[in-house]
This record gives sequence, structure tokens and C-alpha cells, in this order.
Amino acid sequence: MITNPVCPKTGAPMHRSVRPMTLTYKDESVTFDMPGWYCNDCDEGIHSGKDMKVSDRMLNRLKARSEGLLEPGDIRRIRKKLGLSQETAGLLIGGGPRAFQKYESGDMLPSRAVSSALILLDHDPDALMVLKERHEAIKAPESSPSYSPESL
Ligand SMILES: [Zn+2]
Repeated sequence: MITNPVCPKTGAPMHRSVRPMTLTYKDESVTFDMPGWYCNDCDEGIHSGKDMKVSDRMLNRLKARSEGLLEPGDIRRIRKKLGLSQETAGLLIGGGPRAFQKYESGDMLPSRAVSSALILLDHDPDALMVLKERHEAIKAPESSPSYSPESL
């Protein structure tokens, strides 16, 4: 059972609701419905960790927009266009097996390198073969030619 927190100003019980919140990052700003415990009598609000995820994701979206990085919806669209699972995309393109789940939920910003690779692959999906072949070579080093010092 959840007990309602009380307003730090008036002591009145607070209730679950959403209120508009505006975040600003550099030249970009966004207003969205922020969930939380709110006081009916004043503007006090209390946010749980789960509530904060909503604003964290919004802030990441703002940063992505401001920095010219891909946003979650674009990342998902390009990954699907390439026919990759989230795990495979993270292994082939970068970030690791759980990275794309975080990029696409908005929990984590892609690096500029990952974002750039996706933009290039969106433009030329066939180039994915280059990464796949290289990945195969890494997975099976015994079948690839051995390196000589001259080639390094
Ligand atoms: Zn209050």
C-alpha cells in the first residue's frame, strides 16, 4: 500500500498527477507532462526515481537535438531498416549488447561516433556488409591470416 507523502509547506496530503514541466538545454527547450506527487494547494511536487526517468529522457532528447545526435525514434528506425536486433546492432555498430535498448528508450545518448555510423548506414545500408565481414573475422581469428609485424 502506498502512503501519500505530505506537502513540505502545508502538511496537506499530496496526490499522483502530472504537471507541465519545461526543460532548457542551450538553445532548445521542451515542455512535457511530468508525473509526480503534487500538492493541491501550492506548486510543491515530489518525484520518485521512476518519475525522474521521464525528465532524464526528455533532457537526453534535448541534448541530442542540440548536439545534432540521432534521437531514439531515428535510431530505432535505422536499426530496423538494417534488419538488426538491438543486441546485434550494439555489437556491430558500437556501444555493446545492451546499448541500443538504452538509446531507443532514451535512457542513454549515443556517442557521436555511433550516431555518425548510423547516419551513414541509413544513407547506404549495403555498407553494413563491411561491418559484418569484419565482425566475422574478429569472431573467428583462427581462420583469418595471421598478422605479421609489417602489417601492423
Ligand atoms: Zn502545498
